[in-house]
Amino acid sequence: MLDTLTIQTQRTTASRLSQLDPEHIEFGKIFADHMFVVDYSDGQWQEPQILPYGEMSVSPATSALHYGQAIFEGMKAYKNAQGDIALFRPLDNLQRLNASAERMCMPAVPEELFMQGLAQLIRLDADWVPDAPGSALYIRPFMFATDGFIGVRPSDTYRFVIFTCPVGLYYNKPLRVRFEQKYVRSAEGGAGFAKNAGNYGAAMYPTRLAQQEGYNQLIWTDASEHQYVEESGTMNAIFIIDGRLVTPALSTSILDGITRRSILQLARDWGMPVEERKVSIFELLEAQRAGTLQEAFGVGTAATIAPIATIGYEGTDFDLPVAGTDAFSKRASAALQAIRTGEAADEHNWMVRI
Ligand code: PMP
Repeated sequence: MLDTLTIQTQRTTASRLSQLDPEHIEFGKIFADHMFVVDYSDGQWQEPQILPYGEMSVSPATSALHYGQAIFEGMKAYKNAQGDIALFRPLDNLQRLNASAERMCMPAVPEELFMQGLAQLIRLDADWVPDAPGSALYIRPFMFATDGFIGVRPSDTYRFVIFTCPVGLYYNKPLRVRFEQKYVRSAEGGAGFAKNAGNYGAAMYPTRLAQQEGYNQLIWTDASEHQYVEESGTMNAIFIIDGRLVTPALSTSILDGITRRSILQLARDWGMPVEERKVSIFELLEAQRAGTLQEAFGVGTAATIAPIATIGYEGTDFDLPVAGTDAFSKRASAALQAIRTGEAADEHNWMVRI
């Protein structure tokens, strides 16, 4: 990718790379040396910069802190055996970031700013991209409202930042989840399709209650009837029922996951029937009873695929079969991994070399 944008770069004089133990990377705690920062004011994006990763000072009146005008993305870069670095579907993340921005009355991030910011930042921190199997550089682009004004209205100024952190192999211990029928993550017409900060803050309390009952996470259901599956924690939910892939259809209350998109594409490539529609608790419990609910799993950037072992409903736990190596979720996870590391052909052009 050519450097079409000049980004003022201030390199760190004290790299923290030697503090990283590639064998034991703790998720989300050690950040790479640099970050990309660009401010928005006077109706336009100002000069972008790459700076040493570090603290930012903000006014106590910063509107993002009060009214939650803040959005983010989560994506990954991978290093192949030759040491080349590639991003997985970055333009899909940009499109979603801008959909979130529109919903939250925030300015769109232009493609060149996003892609050049990512490419130049990650090239500078290339040594932070791990290459052990299953590892990656997790990338966190985010934007927040920076007006120091406590009136409730969209901010006039914003800051867009990208920082990164290496992540190791995600251990997919099969999950215990339960249907949530009291609290809702998001309602039709709400902002569930956006990655705005408030969606995540409001999900913490119901999630904590479920964890106190011994579950790992919740299966969110629809806000009006509490009967239809929405998502599994912060992942999209997929079920294999009698050889068919069944997943809730997208709506304004469901995040359009990029892992979900990719897995649905693989299933279609493999000739598997794919059904994007309403999926009721009743249907799933019936299928579990009849033995046709073959697999249930959450999909997202962090874990790729997190198998579900047990689903709780009204105090009773229903166990699912243990997915064998020929299970769809295992094959899909391996196929995605092979595409990301360059071991398999990238037929849909998902990887973008930087
Ligand atoms: N749903 C929610 C609520 C999420 O936060 C995420 C993580 N971004 C996902 C689904 C999965 O999306 P993706 O595959 O793009 O990571």
